[in-house]
Amino acid sequence: MAESLQAIRGMNDILPHQSYLWQHVESGIRSVLEAYGYREIRVPIVEKTELFKRSIGEVTDIVEKEMYTFEDRNGDSLTLRPEGTAGCVRACIQHGLLNQVQRLWYAGPMFRHERPQKGRYRQFHQFGVEVFGLEGPDIDAELLMLCARLWRRLGLQQVSLQINSLGTAAARVDFRAALVEFLRAHRGRLDADSLRRLESNPLRVLDSKNPDIQALLADAPRLSDYIDDQSREHFQHLCDHLDAAGIDYSVNPRLVRGLDYYGRTVFEWVTDQLGAQGTVCAGGRYDALVEYLGGKATSAVGFALGLERLIALLEQQQTQLPSDTPHLYIVALGEHAQRASLGLAEQLREALPRLRILTHCGGGSFKSQFKKADRSGAPYALVLGDEEVARGEAGLKPLREHGEQHNVAFAALPQRLAELFNY
Ligand code: ATP
Ligand code: MG
Repeated sequence: MAESLQAIRGMNDILPHQSYLWQHVESGIRSVLEAYGYREIRVPIVEKTELFKRSIGEVTDIVEKEMYTFEDRNGDSLTLRPEGTAGCVRACIQHGLLNQVQRLWYAGPMFRHERPQKGRYRQFHQFGVEVFGLEGPDIDAELLMLCARLWRRLGLQQVSLQINSLGTAAARVDFRAALVEFLRAHRGRLDADSLRRLESNPLRVLDSKNPDIQALLADAPRLSDYIDDQSREHFQHLCDHLDAAGIDYSVNPRLVRGLDYYGRTVFEWVTDQLGAQGTVCAGGRYDALVEYLGGKATSAVGFALGLERLIALLEQQQTQLPSDTPHLYIVALGEHAQRASLGLAEQLREALPRLRILTHCGGGSFKSQFKKADRSGAPYALVLGDEEVARGEAGLKPLREHGEQHNVAFAALPQRLAELFNY
């Protein structure tokens, strides 16, 4: 036998027993987005490498070491998208969508060559939301309310909101100088990653996941002491909106985003129930990006949530997850009965389109058919024999608990099943 091939490390198959939960989560997210008037944009998974270099920034983890970049047959450098904002902004500029307010969302796989571990994969899935053309804190608040509604809708608990303001780029210059001075003074306590960031992009030392570095940073200069008055006011109004909406949050003065294009509002929804990979959703304002990518200056704010982490959290918290086990498994013995069973199943699907009905295919004894019915997880079997069919009846038999088989006339079945399953 030929050696079987394996999937690429960090890239997961989503198997049939998992995909139903994914669909449940995805449709929950879509309906919340629709309720706020957001519309979907679909963009390619591959873009020119240049787009990500320019938008994410050369000295970020993503561009420095995580991108799947390759040359196509023309010799052009292309990259599998590591995130969705760049492509979304590119499409909006290209198609002239930015002359009015846009509330958009996208979903799909993203690719980053990271070290695979729980909650961190090389192909992972995001839902992303972007709003263009609104600069006030009201829209930032709307996005956070949308997130909060989403957690409620999915039944998620213990996801808490952290917010911060990065101020404007100009205001960050002085902060950067103060931070660099502080970090240089404590050089000996920095790890290799932070030393590298100190030279290339010092603000990102704040983003370090090393607890020793985080401890050191407790005494570092605070960005909030440096940001400009207008940003401070913007942030205060955001807090007022959140208070009015009853959304809990904490201000985390060390919260910065890994990507370069953020300014003013940044936020993360985090949980302590997923180990080290606790950020479920992250985003903020990136007013500079559109112009930077060749469009006219346009305010922008958005977030992306990681579906793998969201689903892992759901699985951890909820004992009763939605399931796609069939409601009914139809077994049939005898030539007439087998032929009748397919037709009967069709009639039932016509009458009760949301019931999941499996017909037994492939023949075999009642015993072997019941074994398959049992394995399907269906709570009921519908039993057809030639005699029953001649009388226009089928036997309804509970499979999960002891109980008698009752004969039900074909014509009465839809009603009976509707009662049984609270249809
Ligand atoms: P982290 O700090 O965990 O590396 P990030 O800042 O790189 O996250 P973003 O680029 O903001 O993450 O992506 C938004 C969300 O996408 C994250 O909060 C997370 O839920 C999810 N995500 C990011 N990278 C991965 C990955 N490699 N595997 C699974 N989910 C991911
Ligand atoms: Mg990352």
